[in-house]
This record gives sequence, C-alpha cells and structure tokens, in this order.
Amino acid sequence: MNLQQIKELDKKHFMGVFGERFSVLFEDAKGVSLFDKEGKEYIDFLAGIAVNCLGYGDEGYAQVIAKQASSIMHISNYFYNETQAKLAELLCSLTGMQKIFLANSGAEANEGAIKLARKHFFKKGENRKKIITLSQSFHGRTLATLAATGQEKFHVPFYPLIESFEYVEANNVDALIKAVDENTCAVMMEVIQGEGGVTPLTQEFVEMINTTCRKNGALIIVDEIQTGMGRTGKFLASQHYNLKPDIITLAKALGNGVPCGCILAAESVCDAFDPGDHGSTFGGNHIACAAAYYTVNKVINDGLIERCGELGEYFKNKLLEIKNKYPFVLDVRGAGLMLGMELDEKVSAKAIQKELLSRGFVICSAGRNTMRFLPPYIIETKHIDMLTQEIDKIFSEL
Ligand SMILES: *Cc1c(COP(=O)(O)O)cnc(C)c1O
Repeated sequence: MNLQQIKELDKKHFMGVFGERFSVLFEDAKGVSLFDKEGKEYIDFLAGIAVNCLGYGDEGYAQVIAKQASSIMHISNYFYNETQAKLAELLCSLTGMQKIFLANSGAEANEGAIKLARKHFFKKGENRKKIITLSQSFHGRTLATLAATGQEKFHVPFYPLIESFEYVEANNVDALIKAVDENTCAVMMEVIQGEGGVTPLTQEFVEMINTTCRKNGALIIVDEIQTGMGRTGKFLASQHYNLKPDIITLAKALGNGVPCGCILAAESVCDAFDPGDHGSTFGGNHIACAAAYYTVNKVINDGLIERCGELGEYFKNKLLEIKNKYPFVLDVRGAGLMLGMELDEKVSAKAIQKELLSRGFVICSAGRNTMRFLPPYIIETKHIDMLTQEIDKIFSEL
C-alpha cells in the first residue's frame, strides 16, 4: 500500500482524534534514525514522545522481547512473576520509594495515583478530597486525569468531570499557599511541564509545595511520566529539586516502546490499597516487565542518565546561540534531553516542525508556540549539530 491509500483507509475507519497526521510513512529505523519508504533518513528528536529512550534496534532489547514472546507473554496477576518482582525492587531502590503498582500507560498510572491518595485518607478516616494541580499541566486523557489536567480546552466537551480538582497557576507561590489547606488530599504536578510547553517549576515554588503540603498533611504526587527515567539528567526530575514525593508516576520511556507505566509510593502511603481496590489485566505482564527491566538496567548500566545531562547541556547551549541571533526566539528551557524553544507568535513552531521534517529531522511542538526536543538518550553531538545548523538555516531564511 502506498501512503495515499493508507491515508484514505485511516480517514474512513480511524477516529479522527489525530487530525491530519504528518505526511510521511516510516518503515524502518536504526539507532536515532528513521527511514521512509524511499529510504530517506530522518534524525529523531521526538523518540515517540519521550518513549524510545534507547533509540531503535537495540539488540539486547530485541533479544529479551523475542525470548519472552516465545514463552509467556502474559499470564495474569493471579500468579507471581519473577521479572515483575525484580523490576519492583529495582524501581523502588532507584526512587527511594517502598512499593510499586504496574499499569499500562501514563494516564492509568496517574488514575491509580489519584485513587491511592484518596484511599489513603479514606483509610485514615479523613474526608480529604481536594486535589490541587497546576495550570498548563497535562496528566492524561481518562476522565480523572483529564480533570487533573489544568487546561480547560481539554475539559469542555466532557463535562461533568470528576469533582474536587482545583487549579493553581504554576510558579505562583501566593496562589499555592491560599489553595492548600487541611482539606487538601494532594498536590499533583510535573516539575517540568511537558505538553504545557517544557516549563520548569521554580525551586522556590517546589519548596513551597513541600512546605505547605507537610504543614497541612497533604500528599505530594509527582507525575514523572515524561521527565522520569533519566531524561533530565537525574533518574527523576524531582531529584533536581531535592523533592521527596509521596507518590511518583512513570510511564513513557519505562518500557522503551512496550506500553508500561507505574505508581511508586513511599512507605507512609504504599499500603493504602487493600485487596480488590485496584488492579489491571495487562499491567505488569511478562512482556512489559521484560521490556522495562531491560530498559531500566540499560539506562543505568550504560551511564545514559549522565549522558542525558551532558548532552543536554551541549544541546541547550547550541539552542541559546540561536536564541541570541534571532529576536523572535523568546526562550530556551528545560533540562537534559527535554528541551524547549519558545517562539513569538510571528513564527509558528508547528510550521518550523513541518519544515524540519521535510529536511529530515523529527521534532514536536508543545504549549502555546514551543518547539520541543525529546531525542533518544543515545543521540550524539554530531546529530545535535546537524539539527541546530538546520534550525539556524531555516530561521535565517524567514
Ligand atoms: C504523556 C503524559 C501523560 C499521559 O500518558 P499516556 O501514556 O499517554 O496515558 C501523563 N502525564 C504526563 C506528564 C505526560 O507527559
């Protein structure tokens, strides 16, 4: 089938939630490169939206999955699972958490985190319902995580949402102090907002979240679905802030492409769920655990977290050089290999994204008008040079 035929089938039979997709059909990939049907190469600075941390075609990963697929893919959570137990221990030790629950996606991990927080207070006999999240946040597409998402445009067609979410402007310390009280169940946040435009929280704001939550006995939930797994130069982005959350969620890069998410909980909250309170048919099955266990070990053992930090620094400096040349570049933000370049409204980030794609680079956009870069951790300086030179060229031609 050619791309035109695929487009027609898609238009006819696939729900139109993704609108007009990019007009390219990737058929193969290796390392950080994607290839279309004609063999044209594209350097990947998207990584399947922060998922493919090991890039494409990692041999050990392929072997682990093939081996697992030839025996048990799935057997249900009625039974013990050795890799699941080992993955649980590994992720708890890397995050300082006590217990884990494995889910299939980011939204599902956050949904579970919200349930866990509510159950924690239910069990204590405290009627705390209010969960505070931040404006421009993104926490998922299920009804509860949609309610958690502080962007009205996602809410409007789906009312009524789950009640008791309240939104505070990110980095507004006074608004935060006003919002958190003795009825607050939790404050939930991304410490670097991804979909919202690669916006880091300030150290002061995060410290105030910590102070007000501790003072009022509210839980801290950090959504590390995009920021976690080493991408920002530490295993968790909250570690840059010295923040010790009660609940952490991970997903995206956890399985390097095999769907996998998790809720991690500190000792004080990790036993809130009782048998029957939560569950999942697929969550933490053999294939997902094999993929995640390999991926996490590889990220640690190959020094990829440090690599994200160092290459991120290099990349950010290159982007800052561009910012200094072009007044329509408003800001360069982010940490490690999660970077954003915000443009003023005269230049459309989406149009630049499209132009870059035609020139063999895959990036994405986020927030109001921000170019977003989320490459695989195995990206090299030469690829960063190629991309930033191309951006410079496009900007100089505007
Ligand atoms: C992607 C994302 C989610 C949702 O994850 P899905 O796997 O798409 O459900 C939630 N929170 C953050 C911060 C994300 O980046």
